[in-house]
Amino acid sequence: MAAIEMRNIVKEYGDGFKAVNDVSLDIADGEFMILVGPSGCGKSTLLRMIVGLEDITSGDMVIGGERVNDKEPRDRRLSMVFQNYALYPHLTVFENIAFPLRLQKGVTEDEIRTRVHDAAAMLELNEHLDRKPANLSGGQRQRVAMGRAIVRAVNAFLFDEPLSNLDAKLRGQMRTEISRMQRRLGTTTVYVTHDQTEAMTLGDRVAVLRRGLLQQVASPRELYEQPVNMFVAGFIGSPPMNFLPAAVSGDRLKLPFLEVAVPSAAAGKVTDGQLLIAGLRPDHFEDAALVDPAKKATGVVFRARVDVTEWLGDSQYAYIPFEADQEITRQLADLAAELDSEALRTQLIVSIDATSRLREDQDA
Ligand code: ATP
Repeated sequence: MAAIEMRNIVKEYGDGFKAVNDVSLDIADGEFMILVGPSGCGKSTLLRMIVGLEDITSGDMVIGGERVNDKEPRDRRLSMVFQNYALYPHLTVFENIAFPLRLQKGVTEDEIRTRVHDAAAMLELNEHLDRKPANLSGGQRQRVAMGRAIVRAVNAFLFDEPLSNLDAKLRGQMRTEISRMQRRLGTTTVYVTHDQTEAMTLGDRVAVLRRGLLQQVASPRELYEQPVNMFVAGFIGSPPMNFLPAAVSGDRLKLPFLEVAVPSAAAGKVTDGQLLIAGLRPDHFEDAALVDPAKKATGVVFRARVDVTEWLGDSQYAYIPFEADQEITRQLADLAAELDSEALRTQLIVSIDATSRLREDQDA
């Protein structure tokens, strides 16, 4: 196991395009780090530079205290699990898992057998060791790929969207297994995904990338509650955060259909007359009829017309139109809730940094 340190990492392709642009990121020994961002943001490129499948244009990649920029992938002692599993079709499950051990010098047949059986036991593959990959389900194949990754002691596990070929149910199941396995082995892990749920549930910390630039590195909770800019605020959370134009008027904040006190987190950072963008999560709205009276006293009650509601089984969302073509999304706490009587929680996220950074984002 080892810490991974990235110092000002740049990946520039031939045409001068920077797929990864000056990324510095420290991953602690034993940490589970998620790299997330929209398609093309550079997350796979970054992962491939850690493992050595991609040359680093500039910057330092340090694994376990050692600069590895010029080290061959096999000398970095890392295990990578790919989206397409990359299993050998002509080899049995046993031999697929044993493969990395056979490449190592001096591992005895007994040791190989013990280690393969240990890995297979952890992944519930014991009964399938004699099968070929073609005779396995998608989930079992994914487990074999993981077995191959964990069979030898390595500095870190690297996962590149390992669950994206599985159906939703299996994805959920495998997510739990990966999480359990990582906790049990305590191995440093870097996991690339564009899946919100994986990003928010799997990692100790999440690094959000956009167009090759690192936006924020934080715990899932911190990302959700204190996004540093509008991109992170809008990317994390589903349905996404509502963005509303707002204007500061004394100690009040005026939004299109309601007015609230400037939230305490923003007090002192805003000036009278300033125009901002306020971010409200769908779950920041509650039904006035259902909120306890104490909360209601501190909230802002307003009435709104609900356009469409969406029922997702465990939650329900309402879409409330405002102005010409804009709408906000809110979560309904109670399926039987009255739709036109609503309260807004006092906890109102206003992304003050967002307004200034928005301009930078748009230029980028
Ligand atoms: P996805 O989720 O779609 O896999 P990603 O965030 O993993 O996206 P990367 O695969 O890292 O994105 O690619 C980052 C950017 O670099 C993309 O714009 C991609 O088109 C570009 N890119 C990747 N490989 C090359 C290459 N060999 N030559 C030129 N550009 C490349």
